[in-house]
Amino acid sequence: MNVARLVEAKRSGYTHTPDEIKFLIHNYSHGEVSDSEMTAWIKTVYTYGMSDEEILALVDAMITSGEMMDFSHLPNFVADKHSTGGVGDKVSLILGPLMAEAGLAIPMISGRSLGHTGGTLDKLESIPGFRTDLSTDEFRNIVERVGISMIGQTDEICPADKKMYALRDAIGITQSIPFICGSIMSKKIAEGIQGLVLDIKVGNGAFMKTVAEARELGEKLVMVGRQFGISVEVIFSDMNQPLGFDAGLWIEIQESILALQGEGPEDLMEVTFELGGSLLKQAGMASTKKEARDIQTSLIQNGSAFQKFVEMVEAHHGDSSSLKNPNDYSKATYVSNVNADRTGFISAMDTLEIGRIVNSLTIVKSGKNRELDITGGIRFEKKLGYEVRPGDTLAVCSGRDQKRVEEAIMRLSSAIRIGEKPIVPPKLLQP
Ligand code: URA
Repeated sequence: MNVARLVEAKRSGYTHTPDEIKFLIHNYSHGEVSDSEMTAWIKTVYTYGMSDEEILALVDAMITSGEMMDFSHLPNFVADKHSTGGVGDKVSLILGPLMAEAGLAIPMISGRSLGHTGGTLDKLESIPGFRTDLSTDEFRNIVERVGISMIGQTDEICPADKKMYALRDAIGITQSIPFICGSIMSKKIAEGIQGLVLDIKVGNGAFMKTVAEARELGEKLVMVGRQFGISVEVIFSDMNQPLGFDAGLWIEIQESILALQGEGPEDLMEVTFELGGSLLKQAGMASTKKEARDIQTSLIQNGSAFQKFVEMVEAHHGDSSSLKNPNDYSKATYVSNVNADRTGFISAMDTLEIGRIVNSLTIVKSGKNRELDITGGIRFEKKLGYEVRPGDTLAVCSGRDQKRVEEAIMRLSSAIRIGEKPIVPPKLLQP
């Protein structure tokens, strides 16, 4: 088999066989297909799409590029959550420990920043000492002992996604249903889970810009989950503005800590509880939304969900003292505000641009020698629909590099728009 022939075949409308897809993915994963060959194929699939059978073969090939975890010996319901990617989306950091505390086992494999979106792994690594590159044995052990572990794709689990995710990020092919399906579902299925909830973001800061596109992605993800014997539920949540008030690295950990201590912003908690409700119902631990919400709020109020987060951080070699006084750890060198220049209402937030600005503050170097500024980020003091007066602070940008912070301020002042009339922000959750 030859990659150029497969690219040509796809261009001529030919459907790949499962063996052809496996050949490509496994050989890429082992370094026998080059980045440039893979780029040509990814770009062709991006243009010509994939049938359901091809998507299933892609997911299967990505899973079998590595090992499959097995948690069937545990008495717990084994489940996970994943988001299609957004700005300020820190739900995994809250929901994971919350569900583990409720009694589920959560073996979570996450990703780094992709395109303009933030990455759970990057946020976790802003906790001093926190390691996301654990071996499969350590990962299994933490899930068994603590109930939750959060790592990245490894050389053992989903190595193909690790390479393809980084390549898609570098070549800018992020917004593709077959590859989003392959990436998400391979990681999740390889975890050996029984249940999965998916948060499909929709809006100007999501890969899916319209509800129709989001629903199409949702159908494909559910189709894949069913074929692999997993219960999958999806929610569609708004991404026409950042989720919560903070977007960045350490500041998202800080907001997650507040959320786990009962002081999370309303929109963030709404998405968290909705997803948590679905998981608790899948696990047979709640039969109504109200019951599921009561379980979750009580685990937050009694402090045990936060304690579970601390336990997970310690199991990952993180320094949990940073979580106890988060304001004292990791202060930015430069902090500057974007202020309102007129009276009005926040009428639009260009969330795609905002995500890019956040990443310009947090990702100092990309590629092989990737370097992060954990102090980088933006706090949004005003969100869609808020009334503002001249001089009011709209957002606060922070980071260690003055030039980056100044550039962020300039770009952000065009990305947050003030209109004369009040607006009703889009609904957070689509029915
Ligand atoms: N999340 C993933 O893990 N992969 C994607 O491609 C998009 C979102």
